[in-house]
Amino acid sequence: MTVAGVGVSPGIGHGPVYVLTASVPEPPEGATYVGEADEEKARAHAALEKVAADLEARGVRAGGEAKDVLAAQALMARDPGLAVGVDALIDRGTAAERAVYDSFGTYRDLLTSAGGYLGERAADLDDIRDRTVAVLTGRTMPGVPDVAAEPYVLVARDLAPADTALLSKDVVAAFVTEEGGPTSHTAILARAMGVPAVVAARGATGLTPGVRVLVDGAAGTVTVEPGEREVAAARRRSEAREQALRAATGPGGTSDGHAVPLLANLGGPGEVKAALANGAEGVGLYRTEFLFLDRKQPPTGAEQETAYRAVLEAFPGGKVVVRTLDAGADKPLAFLPAQGEEPNPALGERGLRMFRVYPEVMAEQLDALARAAEGLPARLQVMAPMVATVEEATWFTEACRARGLTSAGVMIEVPAAALRAGDLAAAVDFFSIGTNDLAQYTFAADRQVGALSALQDAWQPALLDLIALAVGEHGRPCGVCGEAAADPVLACVLVGLGVATLSMSAPSLPAVRAGLAGHTLAQCRAAAEAARAQSTAAGARAAARAALPRLAALGL
Ligand code: PEP
Ligand code: MG
Repeated sequence: MTVAGVGVSPGIGHGPVYVLTASVPEPPEGATYVGEADEEKARAHAALEKVAADLEARGVRAGGEAKDVLAAQALMARDPGLAVGVDALIDRGTAAERAVYDSFGTYRDLLTSAGGYLGERAADLDDIRDRTVAVLTGRTMPGVPDVAAEPYVLVARDLAPADTALLSKDVVAAFVTEEGGPTSHTAILARAMGVPAVVAARGATGLTPGVRVLVDGAAGTVTVEPGEREVAAARRRSEAREQALRAATGPGGTSDGHAVPLLANLGGPGEVKAALANGAEGVGLYRTEFLFLDRKQPPTGAEQETAYRAVLEAFPGGKVVVRTLDAGADKPLAFLPAQGEEPNPALGERGLRMFRVYPEVMAEQLDALARAAEGLPARLQVMAPMVATVEEATWFTEACRARGLTSAGVMIEVPAAALRAGDLAAAVDFFSIGTNDLAQYTFAADRQVGALSALQDAWQPALLDLIALAVGEHGRPCGVCGEAAADPVLACVLVGLGVATLSMSAPSLPAVRAGLAGHTLAQCRAAAEAARAQSTAAGARAAARAALPRLAALGL
């Protein structure tokens, strides 16, 4: 059996399925048990002890700060007062899982009403409660295992950055999600980690936990219980492609010498190594909000300075484009909440709009950036997300200039900005097109909804037209840092449209470098023209491929 989806991170992953359960359902109110009260109590105590021991063991494996946090959680699970409460409810006829659920509820209320530090422990209690209820009801414990005897294929409805942030290639063989499109953060993170991924795979969460699957992140397929030969053949294909990619080295550009700097998208200093290993010539998008996704309080200026400097130091001669915090919608930051209710967060206060509400946070970030760049040879460029008007662009540029930040640019993610790039050009030093959001807003299709992935396809001719408009003839350099740049075929088309630099997740760099090096600028232009002459995304892709003759030989 094969489950089909959209391949968003190439490579072959083979391993047992781990299905991430969204949350453990609440046991029914009034649930009772059959049998003796003492047996039911023993069942509850055993479950609590199992959870405590598991948390402790994870802590020992993780070490450091995580060890203390998990040890404290284990203590909560072993709290004698909690056991007394559970026993009392069981004595009244309540089933163990409901007794555990309600007893944790009482503690939770106490903590929440205490507020502050104690109030924040409520989430830890919920986690222990869910784990214990899962044990009692025979379900998989919630959460993503961060250690494994053998790398597993993580299957989920969707993955939040927080779910995957702590995982590594040694633990996860591949990601498969039912939701998510090519530009979702599952896709971006998977590429950043170099883990194969398939999104929009309908029915994937129905796979039996533990069953072995073969994930082809280029073809977008998940084969259940593949034969040994099939696995071996898939690995050989993937290795041949890897070899072709390793052969392409040096700065990016077409075969006739038109330079196209190839830059990396980063979420923090931890990704610098992969960027350098894949030959990044600089950084085209430093997503600074990724540094602070789990924070309740704004980061201090000093810690920001350290995180920015670490990346600037890694690229002494290159340029480093740092994006100011893009908070809101799919990347909420607890310390920058939206004002009032937002039925459509993607259309609400996000990106630069958030800084209109919290100007002091922008001031702190820009100050930290200016300090971080002091005395370093890297070329720092600062960029604002979600800009729609000239007024916004001017406000941002002036704030940068006031701090001596000499290169200030904006992302083009909103159709209004693409349509009026000529006007914006007068207010900024450079542009970078965020094709993920530009597709989302052009097609009114939420990038997190897998069912709409066809509408987020950057090959849509309407999107290609907007990119052509944004590149324009306004004299300002225009790069692409959305995931469209990571598609080696589309990358050639973008260069043909006049895009100056391409920035992508580090593992995508070699394929793009190989694709570009195999073609002349004239061929790229012809491919762009052929793609825009089509009326469908599939037609545009096919026409571009036909105009780029070396792709097949390179296995791209
Ligand atoms: C984009 O929208 O294309 C982009 C690069 O920004 P992000 O994916 O972080 O929203
Ligand atoms: Mg964006």
